[in-house]
Amino acid sequence: MSTLIHGGTVVPGTGNTVLESGAVILRHGRVADVLERWDRDQTFDGEVIDASGCVVMPGLINSHVHGVTPGPLMPSGAPALPDDEWLANLDRHLFAGTTTVLNLCGFCTMDQVREADRRHAVHVRGATTHLPEAERAARMADGRGLPAQSGHSTVEKMLDDGAIAIGELGGGQTLGGGGQDLSYIPRAIERASGVRVHSAQARRMKEAVLGRFIDPDACDMAELRAAAAEAGLEGQIALVELRKIIADSVLPSVEPALNGIREGVQAAARFGVPAILHSAAATARVMRELMDGTLGPQTPGPKANVIASHANHPSHTPAEALALAKLGRDHGWAAEVSVFDLLHRKQTVTTREHWDVLLQEPGLVDVLATDYGHEGHHDELISAVQDVAEHGYRSLAGAVAMATSAVTGLIPGIAPNGGRIEAGRDADVVVASSEDFRDVRFVFVGGVCVVRDGRLAPAARQ
Ligand SMILES: [Zn+2]
Repeated sequence: MSTLIHGGTVVPGTGNTVLESGAVILRHGRVADVLERWDRDQTFDGEVIDASGCVVMPGLINSHVHGVTPGPLMPSGAPALPDDEWLANLDRHLFAGTTTVLNLCGFCTMDQVREADRRHAVHVRGATTHLPEAERAARMADGRGLPAQSGHSTVEKMLDDGAIAIGELGGGQTLGGGGQDLSYIPRAIERASGVRVHSAQARRMKEAVLGRFIDPDACDMAELRAAAAEAGLEGQIALVELRKIIADSVLPSVEPALNGIREGVQAAARFGVPAILHSAAATARVMRELMDGTLGPQTPGPKANVIASHANHPSHTPAEALALAKLGRDHGWAAEVSVFDLLHRKQTVTTREHWDVLLQEPGLVDVLATDYGHEGHHDELISAVQDVAEHGYRSLAGAVAMATSAVTGLIPGIAPNGGRIEAGRDADVVVASSEDFRDVRFVFVGGVCVVRDGRLAPAARQ
């Protein structure tokens, strides 16, 4: 089966070239040829797609996703999503031109990752956090999706079985972040008082009790009183009890989660695979400690390849995010920024200040990803690519590379023969409107059309 895509702006993903009116030929699952132009009078034996007014780019590679397998959800090992939900999450990635994802719910087994990979056209890759302290943190925060027995696998076994990275090390649920605000704190308060609070109210009370850096000494009782009143808790529960409930919900998993990050970075150095680490206010201290440790003469031996994930996490101030990412760069760490839902939906992240501050610094951010967003409704990775190009943070070629070849550069196992439109590469190709990249017209995976005229084709799900 052969396909010719011509007349569009071809961005091969290499980071420097754009063919203004180029052509791409797909044959037998591979890119057969990339041409400067195609004469419309020429005949072609196969399907012909006129991509005028469109950009043609490699299938995007998203190195930070959740909820795309039948396995435990998130670094807290929460119960797996039902089949229709994780499949719908993969549909959403595919609709937005993403053809490869790295599942950062690190307690999944590789069988669960392979099942997702088999049942959906999106290539699903696996990462692992099968580390004693990371698992202890998960069980303290949630763990309902984990097997009854602890230690059912190890990083080493998972890597032997095909996992390609270690991560996500740390997470909002185990480190007093958004997951606590969204579900665990409201649930604990409801049990004690009968009142259900919103996540914003939970966050305000949490910050009153533990500050932004999750420190029990930071408690501000006057602020807690005001926050509790605002949440309708006045007279429903004593302030000291409220303080204890919040601290008991957040704190037990924090220390093991921080230890799990240390374990994971050590394992990454030992096994020579990338470690993907949750950057946030709560992890800033351990990140600095690890940066120093990897440089220090007291720790010879291999250095871990670390990717600081969502370096633009909104729990940092923009200035903190910038300083931490620069320090990371000085220590050889890579930085990923997650779009969350900061461009369009704005349910979980309402500011783009961190995004702009980091991206406008030349060479600071290596790759773009999505993370999860509100119940999987993150903004599209392809929209992030467009945003980066339109704001002039990178050229179009450079912006596309941040979600294709730069990702394979950092995480070699993620798409060994993908990430570029070059002869011989996998025929994972996206055709999207130049006006609004979210208007994805065609997606090919292995040369097979899985999105056609903006609709999922039957081949999208197997
Ligand atoms: Zn994540």
